[in-house]
Amino acid sequence: MAVYLDNAATTKPCEAAVEAVINNITLDYGNPSSLHKLGLKAEEVIRESRKAVAAALVCEPDCVYFTSGATESNNTALFGIAANYGKRRKKLVITAVEHSSVAAPAKHLEDMGYEVVRIYPDSSGEISADEFIAAVDENTFMVSCMLVNNETGAIHPVKRIFSAVKRSFPECVTHCDAVQGFMKIPFKAADLCADLITVSGHKIHAVKGAGALFVKKGTRVAPLIYGGGQEKGFRPGTESVPLIAAFGAAVNSMRPGIKTAYSNAEELNRYLRKKLEKLPFVTINSRAESISPYILNFSAEGVRSETMLHYLESNEIYVSSGSACSKGAKSPVIAAMKLKDSLADSALRASFSRMTTYGDIDMLVKYLQLGYESLAKVKR
Ligand code: PMP
Repeated sequence: MAVYLDNAATTKPCEAAVEAVINNITLDYGNPSSLHKLGLKAEEVIRESRKAVAAALVCEPDCVYFTSGATESNNTALFGIAANYGKRRKKLVITAVEHSSVAAPAKHLEDMGYEVVRIYPDSSGEISADEFIAAVDENTFMVSCMLVNNETGAIHPVKRIFSAVKRSFPECVTHCDAVQGFMKIPFKAADLCADLITVSGHKIHAVKGAGALFVKKGTRVAPLIYGGGQEKGFRPGTESVPLIAAFGAAVNSMRPGIKTAYSNAEELNRYLRKKLEKLPFVTINSRAESISPYILNFSAEGVRSETMLHYLESNEIYVSSGSACSKGAKSPVIAAMKLKDSLADSALRASFSRMTTYGDIDMLVKYLQLGYESLAKVKR
């Protein structure tokens, strides 16, 4: 049996999500904009999913807009807010460890003439709330800070930052990419003091291609694309009803178990840490004080990340080097933490889900050790 420890990249769809897709493509396949029975049924499916996502975020359903995933939500947030709030004020403050779906739009805005300030983490991956807050001024139209870093698991002080920003600059729009925290780290939309929150379905056992953007009432986000009136014109185009149905179904089936799953992930994380600490060639890079138990980044110094990844893969053990989205390119997150080259070059990420077992972790540790013995070039 394969050992899947790459759940921060994507998760296996749960049974409820698979069933929802099949039902939708075989039975309820109408276009939600059609006025007949099949259309109304499809519209009802979207309404129910919207309610489910809203319940998980503890917000009103009409604050939830479906998108094709977190990349689209993040792009819409940055460009849609820049279009409406960035005419006079030109500054955007983000962390230097945002996912590329925030970092790249921010770079694009920078190339268009906006000022982008990036707050760097320390070597444990922690972002200083004080430093972030100090960078915000009356010229700042938007701040964006992710909740949980997808490579290290560091939980950023979003609430502290956003509440301070709102106190001093109520007009500044606050956006949080909460993809790696949603349904994992308990939070309510209101707790974060965020005007916009990004979430994604496939990280929580739904299906790739559906995500959402929470938009606090009164926040004006310009759409990225224009067309029909779907999602109140915010996101035109016929909705992907099967994927949205799966998103809602996954949320409903996961929600009751969030706390138990969190404790289980904590125990699995502790178990893996203890085992890794016994391996002299391993350094644990996930060292932030406030950290998600679902992600553990470490380096097997002496074996390049990709080499170890493929060795593990040949034994049916799946982890990531850097973030999956960067296709093995040197991780900007690890670079921002300024780890020494030998650690950066050998960094690996194991990430858990509710389906992870102690047996999976035993296999990872066993093959890490075997891999190191057969592959290591520079022994310490
Ligand atoms: N933000 C974060 C923090 C992520 O981890 C990811 C997925 N790697 C994304 C955004 C992009 O999500 P999606 O695949 O839904 O576009």
